[in-house]
Amino acid sequence: MPEHMLTNPIHGRVNQPVEGETSRRMPDQVGNVAGADTEELSERLLQTEPSDTFTKGPLKKVYAYWLSGMGCDGCTISTLGATEPSVEELLTGTLPGVPMLVLHHYATSIDSGDHFTHSLEKAEKGELDAPYVIIYEGSIADENLTVEGEPWAAEGALPTWAPGEERRRVPTAEWVRRLAPGAAATIAIGTCATWGGIPASDGNPTGAMSLMDFLGKDYRSAYGLPVINVPGCAPLGDNFTETVTMLLLFLNKQAPLPEFDELGRPAWLFEETVHRHCPRAGYYEEGTFAKEYGDKECLVEVGCWGPVVNCNIVERGATGHMGGCMVAGGPCIGCTMPGFPDKFTPFYTTPPGSTVSTTMSRLVGSFVVPLRRMTQLERNREQRWHDKVPSGWAREYDTTTLTHRAAEYFYDKLQYFRSERPGRQKDVEKYRSGYVTPAEAAYGDGYQELPDRRAEIARERGAPQRPGLTLEAAGFETSPPGREEE
Ligand code: SF4
Repeated sequence: MPEHMLTNPIHGRVNQPVEGETSRRMPDQVGNVAGADTEELSERLLQTEPSDTFTKGPLKKVYAYWLSGMGCDGCTISTLGATEPSVEELLTGTLPGVPMLVLHHYATSIDSGDHFTHSLEKAEKGELDAPYVIIYEGSIADENLTVEGEPWAAEGALPTWAPGEERRRVPTAEWVRRLAPGAAATIAIGTCATWGGIPASDGNPTGAMSLMDFLGKDYRSAYGLPVINVPGCAPLGDNFTETVTMLLLFLNKQAPLPEFDELGRPAWLFEETVHRHCPRAGYYEEGTFAKEYGDKECLVEVGCWGPVVNCNIVERGATGHMGGCMVAGGPCIGCTMPGFPDKFTPFYTTPPGSTVSTTMSRLVGSFVVPLRRMTQLERNREQRWHDKVPSGWAREYDTTTLTHRAAEYFYDKLQYFRSERPGRQKDVEKYRSGYVTPAEAAYGDGYQELPDRRAEIARERGAPQRPGLTLEAAGFETSPPGREEE
């Protein structure tokens, strides 16, 4: 936060009516202990910077009303962890061409009570000085099912405080109904808001539904946009902040409308399946599968739905490019998908239908894997080495079987049938200068042999045995303790 915002006191408004407000003549008893409001802070930030610092477009700011229904606040938490861009960048308007986001969020808002509610009312009446968007977290309850009119999910109370007036809690569903028609865009964040999620699963006493279900197919925002959906339980924070950023650029005439798929998901984020980018996909292709959690192979047989789930968590990472379900060892349970959780339960059992594809993979893998191993072994040898790898750690080529050599020979012919073989085609002389390594000088070209064999070769050749080549010769005790006594 810029220094001037920390050092300049905000004018207290606790006992003052908000401009244009008539109902608040008395001290704000439901009040704003901070004595400040979000809009004032944003305005200060805008006014203390050169006018074109924040944005080149027509909009300096866009209001955002984050409403919360039947959810766990996980969407809020994951959004706070976003880095590309971060929430801070959006709130301070530091991204070129992106208007500052003036966020009214029930948990992070510095204004409370009627000050918080008052801003929502101003948005509904069209009294704001900039467009606004709605962000909805959690599913929307069917408030017709409530007992004695007490809402399932509510935010604020109306009318704003005045002596003698009876106030009622305002369901978030009502705020959606009131604010959605005038919103520049309506964004559902998380699987509860996008598809219904856990609150709408089997049983569903609250009649929970998604934002799309609530507003209907024909809903369009003031800018003509249907509901935008960023699913996930919880969603990737970066998916959300990136979508909001693209949308703000569009509202500010700095970019075209981003592409959304038929369910209103950002197409560039959700068009691929988890499986296609999974770090374990190679195991799937070769037909090797984890038997239990903690195994390194593909998790499909312990419950992974990745091949049919639209999600980008493995390539993006959960937070700051780190983590993500399969990266962390967890199978995909389909949390970004419509119908979650019911359609993906019981979790952690082999998904129905996967047997066909895993059987095919096993079949293909039984041919492909041995051939790949052969090529891999061959590709791990430099042409010059041929069958003498000069690494002390090397696998001895001579230990491979005749069958292996024969298979390698024919497979090699098959690989390069009617095609040019790249690179050098014959063993090049080892070193043109005639250089030999010290070990080779001492033991001859059998220098690669194992120590016992090497010593034997040296003896046969009458090469001098240098002291210190064995632990005993170097004075180390090699018998296990207590051996002598026995
Ligand atoms: Fe596909 Fe899941 Fe296996 Fe990854 S763990 S390869 S997403 S089935």
